[in-house]
Amino acid sequence: MSDAEKEKKQMERDKNIPYVDLRNGARGIVIWAQMDGDSLADSALEILGEARRVTKKLDEDSRNVIAVIIGKNSSKHAQTLIHHGADRVYVIEDDRLFEYMTIPFTKAMIAAIKEINPEIAIYSASTLGRDLAPRIAAILNLGLSADCTEFDVGYYANRRKNQRFAKVFKMIRPSFGESKLATIIGPWSYPQSATARPGVFPALSADTSRTGEIINFDPGWENSDFAVQILETVRSVASLELNKADIIISGGFGVGKEGFSMLLELVEALRNNGQKAELGSSRAAVDAGFIEYKHQIGQTGKTVRPSIYIAVGISGAIQHIAGMKDSKTVIAVNFDPTAKIFAHSNYGIVADYREVIPEMIDRVNVGYMFPID
Ligand code: FAD
Repeated sequence: MSDAEKEKKQMERDKNIPYVDLRNGARGIVIWAQMDGDSLADSALEILGEARRVTKKLDEDSRNVIAVIIGKNSSKHAQTLIHHGADRVYVIEDDRLFEYMTIPFTKAMIAAIKEINPEIAIYSASTLGRDLAPRIAAILNLGLSADCTEFDVGYYANRRKNQRFAKVFKMIRPSFGESKLATIIGPWSYPQSATARPGVFPALSADTSRTGEIINFDPGWENSDFAVQILETVRSVASLELNKADIIISGGFGVGKEGFSMLLELVEALRNNGQKAELGSSRAAVDAGFIEYKHQIGQTGKTVRPSIYIAVGISGAIQHIAGMKDSKTVIAVNFDPTAKIFAHSNYGIVADYREVIPEMIDRVNVGYMFPID
């Protein structure tokens, strides 16, 4: 039975339950557009893209997306947010906010939410979003679904409360050790709030013909909100940028610890040619101690969508596929022709990786470039 048929059947079953609308005028989707230092974080555009998709399922008068951006020089990103899907941008600019600060950001977001009165609020499940979103939810007495990987809008009936909702926000996230997907709803307090896992949702391409409204918003801070001062920020230099890599060379349990040195050699050879390459891994390789967790791709690791994903000595378990299935081209190297990874690959090489990877390194060392779209 399709989802639509199931829903029709449920509606028939619930036909004596009255419809309710508890939104009390709340309309639209607010997203927090995070800045990383002076730049716009990728997550801002990812959430905007998803918010645009979600609006299509909301009531007509709720189909607007409002971005709130807070920080020093934040106004310079307002047009970018409009080009990527915002209808309105609330700019909250202050030179003291060259970095995220818990109290001023929380107060500013709350002031903006009270002014906008949105039906839905979405934040990034980044380190900063995980600090900000729960504080706002606690202060405004809202629910919060953390670390969502999917959103939807649909019908819901609660027989015990004798209430039916035509369109509730469905916040979907892995649970039970990430082995199941849970759908969480909360149509009893507004905005229905969630954090979205970074790297999961694709951003929309910029549409420079889009227009929108930019509002310079004063959140009414007091001096005491700035009691904490940031004197210095030290960022780790060689941070891993799996989300930004064009090519990911990913190793599995099958390559062993020594195999990862070989894969790293390939990554470095690609970088020497100016290609953006990173090293990824399966969970089995992490669990075996071959590589650090930060490289793990999959359901309990990172979600990536590079141009080229090369899976080496990886069997293709569903939990791994969940993290790389949107890669444009997948190349698998595995000596077992029945390995599941081949069903998810555009090109398969049935061979021992020790024969294939050194040859790739040699080719790259003499200037071979992987074509990137
Ligand atoms: P294996 O399954 O052991 O496969 C090794 C492969 O290497 C084999 O196919 C073998 O043929 C091949 N091989 C061996 N030697 C060579 C060689 N010399 N040359 C070429 N090929 C060779 N897994 C993830 O990756 N990411 C996750 O986020 C993740 N989350 C999980 C969450 C949950 C709740 C659970 C239950 C599991 C999760 N897993 C995850 C684990 C997943 O189920 C698999 O166990 C894991 O992906 C297997 O890793 P692997 O393919 O490297 O190892």
